[in-house]
Formats: sequence, C-alpha cells, structure tokens
Amino acid sequence: MSTGSRRNGLPLALAIAASAGSASVCRALPHEPAPAGPSVQGHQHAGGTPCIVKSDIPRIPREQQHTIERIPAPVTLLDTDGNESPFGDRGASNNRVNIVIVGDGYLASQQSTYQTHAANTLNSFFSYEPFTTYKNYFQPFRVEVISTVSGVSGDPTAGVNKSTPLQMRYWCSNIERLLCVNVSRAYQYAANSPQPFDQILALANSTKYGGAGYPGNEIGTAAGGHGSASLIAIHEMGHSLGDLEDEYDYGGPAAYDGEEPWGANASTLTSGPMGAAETKWWRWLNDATPGFDGPISTYEGAVYSLTGVYRPSPNSMMRALGPKFNLPSAEALIAAIYSIVRPIDGPPTPATSAILTPFSSASITLLQKASNPLGVQWLLDGEAIPGATGASFNIASVNLRKGASSLSVRVVDETSMVRDPVIRNSLLTQTLSWALPVAPCLADLSGDRVVDDADFPSFALQYDTFVCSEPSMPGFCSADFNADGFVDDADFVVFSNLYDALSCP
Ligand SMILES: [Zn+2]
Repeated sequence: MSTGSRRNGLPLALAIAASAGSASVCRALPHEPAPAGPSVQGHQHAGGTPCIVKSDIPRIPREQQHTIERIPAPVTLLDTDGNESPFGDRGASNNRVNIVIVGDGYLASQQSTYQTHAANTLNSFFSYEPFTTYKNYFQPFRVEVISTVSGVSGDPTAGVNKSTPLQMRYWCSNIERLLCVNVSRAYQYAANSPQPFDQILALANSTKYGGAGYPGNEIGTAAGGHGSASLIAIHEMGHSLGDLEDEYDYGGPAAYDGEEPWGANASTLTSGPMGAAETKWWRWLNDATPGFDGPISTYEGAVYSLTGVYRPSPNSMMRALGPKFNLPSAEALIAAIYSIVRPIDGPPTPATSAILTPFSSASITLLQKASNPLGVQWLLDGEAIPGATGASFNIASVNLRKGASSLSVRVVDETSMVRDPVIRNSLLTQTLSWALPVAPCLADLSGDRVVDDADFPSFALQYDTFVCSEPSMPGFCSADFNADGFVDDADFVVFSNLYDALSCP
C-alpha cells in the first residue's frame, strides 16, 4: 500500500471530461466497525474519521485554472469569520490561500441555510492552530450553487438518488459515511472565484455524518448541517493542504507492509533510528508544547495499520475528529501555506526595478499573523542596518558609504511551530533588493567623477524640461535628485552644494 508521490506523476489533462467521475479508492474497509471516536458536540460521531478518496482527475495548478470550463454562479468574498466582505478596490488579493466553498443540494430558497453552514464551518476552522495564527493568510469565497432538488444522494439511505449540481453522494465505495463529489463539477463551480482556488470545500445539504478528502485534488467534503462538518473540513485540509497522512490504525492490514509513508506525520521508524537518521519529526521528539497534541514520540499504529508504522502523538486531528494537530503536522501545514503565500504582501514602494537615490525611502506591506509579528531587517550590501526593522526605511538615515550598491529588506517568520531550518530559510523568508547609485555623487551628470562645469549643461536641459515624465526629458531625469518627479529649484540646491564640494567622494 504505497503512499508515495500522491501529487506527482499524473499527466495534466486539461480537458476535464464531464463524464469523468471519481475513481473511489477508499482505504477504510467497507464494514469496519466504528471506532470509539471522540465526543463531537455531545454525541459519538458515527463512523470514525472519514477516509481519503483518489480521483483520476489531476489537480489543476493555479496558472492553468483559466482553462476550466466554468459553470457560472454568483460568488461572494468572505472574511475568515464567514461574514460577507466587500471586494476592495483591487478586488481580492492574489497573495492568500484561497478556500472556495461550494454547496450541493441547496435550493434557491435554502441559500441562507447554505450561508450559515459555510460561516459555521469557517468559524470553527480558524479556531484550530495553526489556522488561528495564520487566518490572515486565508481568503474564503462562497459560490452560490443552486440545486433544483433538496439534499444529496444516499441520504437517508443508499437507494436515494438525486440529480444535484455537484453529484455529491453518501455510500461512496459502499461506505455510508464516505461523502463523494464529482471532482470536475466542483472545479467548474469553484472556477467562479475571482482568484485561483487552492482548496475547495464542498458542503452537502445534509445533517447526516460524512465527509471525504481528495488529497490529489485539494478538495474536502463535509455534511454542511452536521455538527462535525467543520472538524471534517479541518481534518481534510490536513490531507489536501499539508499532504498529511491519516494517523488512525484501522482499515488496512494489521501489520503495515508499505514503504516509508510520504507525509510528514507517519514513519516506519521508531524514535531511535529516526533521531539517528535525522528524518521526519526528529527535531520534535520529546517536545510537549501546550496547545498541540503530544508529547511527541513514535506511537505505534497509523496509516490504517496497527503495527510497523508510527505517528508523532497519541491522538491528533489526523487520528480522530476534534483533537489538536501535533506539531510535526502543524509545521507541514505552515510550510504549505508559505508555498502559496508570501509574507510581503504585494509589490513594494518603489518597485525593485527602481534605482534608489540617497533621498529615497522604501517601504513594504507585511501580511501579519494574528500573533507574533514577522521579523523585518533592512540591509545595506547584505549587512544588517542597526535598528532598521520597520516596514519602511529612509535611505537618508544612513551614511551611504562609497560603493554601497544595494539596499534590501529581509522578512522572516520566526514561529516556534517550525523547526526545520530549510523550511524557515526557503519558505518562511522573503528578501527584496533595490539597486543604489554607484556612489552618492548624484550631481556628476557627466560621469567623470567630478561635479564641475561639464555637468551644468545637462542640468540646465533637464531643468528647462522640468517634468520627468515628459518624453523629451533628457538624461533619464538624472537631475531629479530628490526623486519628486520634477527637476526644479530644490534639485538646484543639491546641485550647487555638490558643485561647491567639487570632487566625488
Ligand atoms: Zn483522513
């Protein structure tokens, strides 16, 4: 039972055949008795953790989603509490993990029920770490899918068949709680989102327990009206966003017979060999940080088998519905978030293509977490500038030494939920750089390293043209020393000061 390469190796078939359903290969046994699950809102949930489904439709990368044949439907931007949020001047940001919620089996008259289900699901979703800390990194959308029939197939019994837009159905693979969806239909409705989808959550208009995860398609399903819908969504996000393994130990052979599991939260190694090999969660062994499932060790039983395979913690969200994630899983989720979202939110001012002058300032916008601010450091030629740790920096505040050629800013998320330095340095760090003039000898317009009469004709020509954006402006407006877009008297003051000094430093 190989778990390798879930995301890889699938040829990208852009033409999504409408007839292509999901080839359901659920890895839980059809008649497995329900395990003693956690109490979910006052009752035992009926069937344990939902299992994952493999689809023969490949995931569609962001940049290729425009090729999806969209089925038009209204879409609403939500905040992370599930409230409707007006689109800003620039529309929705493209620097977020976009969660697109689609509903199935909701009549036009039941859209308010759907909206409540979506809001409840999001609310609970962002009450779990690491999603609480990173809630600003997510952007939910809700697509209003109108069904002409209420409810979905397989509810309440296997024989019930309903023709709904997303063709959601219980009894998928003959497992009652396995709630499948037509993956291509889900894509076609999710494509109404103004930003590419990173995660799709399909909610069925049902109060019957069920759900499924499609790790290869970034889709999770849940019963919108069941109290545990949000917990299912969180568990499925563990699969689809973090590529995490199931940590429960039923549904497969009693003794694990596969290769090393792909996900960050399962291994065939016990703690000794894991530490020696410095692999998987070795940096977390013995950690017992409050707020996460732990202490971290190697607990036997995971990935559908009782023996021969290990999980990081006693009873995490990837083993049952309701408990917290363990930290190896949280680390994988944070890495996945940062593979989509950058901590510097949008382009800097000015653009990095601009050449700064000693009069410029540069600024960035940070995508802040809900707690623990991002670390910022400005650097001159790669060396940290003491005290320069804000979102903007004025170059006039440093004495540009001769030959300094670049200013940069480095933003790092120093979260304690990540310990792998490779993840921190690659995904959790972002650096932007601007070129500086060769030396602070701006008035040397002729380039002979002396500010003298030879520079005056060029200054005069630019002074006469005045406006930098004027197409006839000579010399690329190099005499606009204070970078205000005009060559005017203020620049002449700079020019005469430097003229008096005569020689470039
Ligand atoms: Zn699962």
